[in-house]
Amino acid sequence: MKSPLDPPGRLLLGPGPSPVDPSVLDALAKPVLGHMDPEFVAIMDQTSDRLRSVFRTRNPLTFPVSGTGSAGMEASMINVLEPGDSIVIGVNGVFGARMADAAGRAGAKVTLVEAPWGEPIDPEALGSAVRSVNPKAVALVHAETSTGAQSPVDLVRREIGPAPLLIVDSVTSLAGIALEVDKWGIDVCFSGTQKCLSVPPGLAPITFSPRAAQAIADRTTPVQSWYLDVSMLRKYWEEGDGGRTYHHTAPVSMVYALWEGLRLVLEEGLEDRWARHQEVGEFLQQELTDLGFKLYAKAGCRLPQLTSVTLPKGVDDNLRGRLLNDFDIEIGGGLGEGAGKVWRIGLMGFGAKRANAIRLVQSIRALVS
Ligand code: PLP
Repeated sequence: MKSPLDPPGRLLLGPGPSPVDPSVLDALAKPVLGHMDPEFVAIMDQTSDRLRSVFRTRNPLTFPVSGTGSAGMEASMINVLEPGDSIVIGVNGVFGARMADAAGRAGAKVTLVEAPWGEPIDPEALGSAVRSVNPKAVALVHAETSTGAQSPVDLVRREIGPAPLLIVDSVTSLAGIALEVDKWGIDVCFSGTQKCLSVPPGLAPITFSPRAAQAIADRTTPVQSWYLDVSMLRKYWEEGDGGRTYHHTAPVSMVYALWEGLRLVLEEGLEDRWARHQEVGEFLQQELTDLGFKLYAKAGCRLPQLTSVTLPKGVDDNLRGRLLNDFDIEIGGGLGEGAGKVWRIGLMGFGAKRANAIRLVQSIRALVS
């Protein structure tokens, strides 16, 4: 037999996955329980409780979907939308466009409200689209990882009025910048584990407001996906009259990891964590600007946890390979319109440290001098 698995120790400063706290790695190595063992069920319940705290919601229907952030996106769209329903979707980058694709595949009539890449979605534009098509739902990405721009979700509910369900992608925002599911009137909010939660990729935390849960219960057509059908998943994640019903085998070790990752978030305190991301992100953005990089996202909507920059003269996209090979630092390249021209640098969760920003900047300096 060959020697055991031995991946190199990289500093993960790309758009995700982010560095994982050692205590989360320890949690992954704990003995695997049966997924219906009462001890494990207690861990599931605690995980949902902690998710409620981090999402800032009281929604009973809150749990991690088995699968990465895209599974959360897909679950949101296919459970809320029935064929023929209409939805307004804000698109200002790759992930908004993916939501539109997923909604279209669910048979919905999709109205796009677009904004240039690097700019936020305009809540007023969403409001006027809502007044013209009267949709069942409105969806947008809070933190567009493809561009580094955040959209003002807090202002969206006021503009769209009380009627449509509001669906928000918080894959890159959860635990990195302010997100208030209940206060902002969000009905469905999904995320991923591998960004500001600093847990490996593999689960998609999700929460449904009571009226979103009711809309799902009122469906007249079955959800197209068996695996992601929330009406069945909820019987597994929530204690019902007949106890819990087996749906699929929970990824036990990943639930341990999320449990521990959420514990660390709550121990630090959400506000303190948001402030840490802000401080470190602004520091990096200043340092990169001093090096001649241009910040890609528009001022006023820049994410601290994901910085996107266009490359100055003399800096080639191939340098990313040298950062990885010579300095063990991963950063991300551009997506879509930004491919080859943009770098995306994440300072997320456990990785959001000034020392990491300094190590990156010094490494870039060494490569370009
Ligand atoms: N939405 C956003 C904003 C993302 O950044 C990502 C991944 O980077 C996704 C959705 C998809 O998540 P995943 O790659 O975990 O499936």
